[in-house]
Amino acid sequence: MNSWKAIKKRVKNEISKKLLAKNGPYCVYCERVLIGTGNQIDHFAHKALHSQFTFNPVNLFYSCSFCNSSARKGQKNTINNPVQFRYDLCQFKIVHPYFDNPDTEILYQDADKVFFDLPSCSNLGRDTIAFFKWDDIHMTMFRARTLKIERLNPLSPIEEQQLILSIISYK
Ligand SMILES: [Zn+2]
Repeated sequence: MNSWKAIKKRVKNEISKKLLAKNGPYCVYCERVLIGTGNQIDHFAHKALHSQFTFNPVNLFYSCSFCNSSARKGQKNTINNPVQFRYDLCQFKIVHPYFDNPDTEILYQDADKVFFDLPSCSNLGRDTIAFFKWDDIHMTMFRARTLKIERLNPLSPIEEQQLILSIISYK
């Protein structure tokens, strides 16, 4: 069945796969490991506000459901001076994952990147933190929690299966 819906789904799946392969299983914004479902392809410049950039490859990123939620990035405008059809001439309100280097804009007090060092961040970095509300208690807890998950380094499903099989077949 080649309905528009089926084609759209296939293209979306293909883009998701490519974005994941390129950037790893991490949110392009908060850089935390993507856990669970609800991760989504995000249009950096929102398609409802800037539909001309909907299919621009450098406008597409994979993000976690927290950063992309309506309470944080949602449909908010990310461009100061939208230049019709010229993405390269747009000035962005927040750190752009492709054009900016977050490491020089957003600085942390700790090596685990849980607590921000606001006075040392650039203006763009501070605007980005405020835009996503990354310094609220929920996102701070989320950063600390996902850090723990990254460190736990769990068994792969295959290792886990083999282990369980060896235990239940023990005589
Ligand atoms: Zn995120």
